[in-house]
Amino acid sequence: MQTKFLIGSAFEAGQETPEPILNPRTGGLILEVPEASTAQVDRAVAAARAAFEGWSRTTPAERSAALLTIADRIEAEADAFAQLEALNCGKPINAARNDEMPAIVDCFRYFAGAVRCMTGTVAGEYLSGHTSMIRRDPVGVVASIAPWNYPLMMMAWKLGPAIGGGNTVVFKPSEQTPLTALKLAQILADVLPAGVVNVIAGRGQTVGSYLITHPQVDMISLTGDVATGKKMLDAAAKTVKRTHLELGGKAPVIVFDDADISEVVEGLRAFSFYNAGQDCTAACRVYAGKKVYDNLVADLTSAASSIVLGAEDDATNEIGPLISQRQRDRVASFVNRARELNHVQITTGGEAMEPGFYYKPTVVAGAKQDDEIVRREVFGPVVSVTPFSEVDEAVTWANDSDYGLASSVWTRDVGRAMATAARLRYGCTWINTHFMLTNEMPHGGLKQSGYGKDMSVYALEDYTVVRHVMVKHG
Ligand code: NAD
Repeated sequence: MQTKFLIGSAFEAGQETPEPILNPRTGGLILEVPEASTAQVDRAVAAARAAFEGWSRTTPAERSAALLTIADRIEAEADAFAQLEALNCGKPINAARNDEMPAIVDCFRYFAGAVRCMTGTVAGEYLSGHTSMIRRDPVGVVASIAPWNYPLMMMAWKLGPAIGGGNTVVFKPSEQTPLTALKLAQILADVLPAGVVNVIAGRGQTVGSYLITHPQVDMISLTGDVATGKKMLDAAAKTVKRTHLELGGKAPVIVFDDADISEVVEGLRAFSFYNAGQDCTAACRVYAGKKVYDNLVADLTSAASSIVLGAEDDATNEIGPLISQRQRDRVASFVNRARELNHVQITTGGEAMEPGFYYKPTVVAGAKQDDEIVRREVFGPVVSVTPFSEVDEAVTWANDSDYGLASSVWTRDVGRAMATAARLRYGCTWINTHFMLTNEMPHGGLKQSGYGKDMSVYALEDYTVVRHVMVKHG
């Protein structure tokens, strides 16, 4: 297994504290990855800085070709990547292989195309005797910091627009899930000039915090928790770095009385519990019309209890365990606090499974708007269901959140769907579905969910800066 960092063109082992990498299915140790020393971070940043001059002046066609090669190389080794991701995160192999790997490969291919098709304002004479033009240029050295829920996919979302846009990168995966990033480093070293992407590993409070405060870093890109995002903003303030933040979510799901309940239940079965609910867009906060509420709770309860997890034959598993004991304890404590409320019923789940870090798919019925379980991000396989009476009440409750990443509306009435979607303050609203992403469309939040857009041309815009060049005639 590849555990060395890519710094410039060299592979080297981490020099600091060994970080245990666990198998979430068993709790057993896979191996240890020593974290980066500050000297290694310095060298990674210096390598990215040195590479910037050359890489930023490559043509879009050259960067596109590199992204296409990276995509092809990942595709050729997709099975090995999927197995490594499944091992490190506990994901069912089919989810890693069939859902994530094609999306990862497509992300690099998308940006290979998009970088050649960027458009902008026309050049012109806005001041007599002078021609003005707008350029979109790379930002510089990007510190990219990823979470543990989709390690390789988050890496693709960050590297695609960053290197496509002509930036150079120091990438740090989550300390819990570095294995696929370190494997990808081998491909990156083959395909890209030295220093364009550097991959180091280690904890947030040590390696991460040293990296984001580095004076030679121009931009910080984080997918992670809101609290971590705030630390990025503090660090960025010191040298006025740009930031690209994708933070948590608490997606509301508004189910009107005229919705097709079997479709809603089928959707929630998939979109609330996928990746064991460790997903910032998970359909975790359901508001159901009073007429459908009872049926929805009953059907969702039986659907959630039918989800296969922890089976010996992994091909039959639909979800995996949580990433760690700590994450499972956190999820359990949310459910236990909800359980103590008289108006709440835990209709299925609400318990851990051993061995490993499993937690059963859980439905929390009768939850009220002010309950913690409705307001805070659980990041586990837990869905709350709350009845509502009026459209205005549902929209007010849906918007009454610190988060603003994703939402969905379920109804057979197109007009109602559109009118409701228009009032929701979320980066994305799905109608009669949830969770579906495509590389052509932006993914990112409002409010405390952050403001960075991943995927789409908007990500390329986020990773480039607008510049004005003016020429005086004669
Ligand atoms: P986290 O914020 O704890 O960690 C994310 C990354 O930040 C890790 O690599 C970590 O090492 C690093 N980090 C932590 N503290 C740091 C510091 N002080 N300085 C620099 N780096 C630091 O988040 P997590 O637990 O890995 O991931 C779960 C969170 O990510 C959830 O809140 C989830 O909603 C969010 N998330 C958001 C999106 C999105 O698209 N908006 C996608 C996936 C996950």
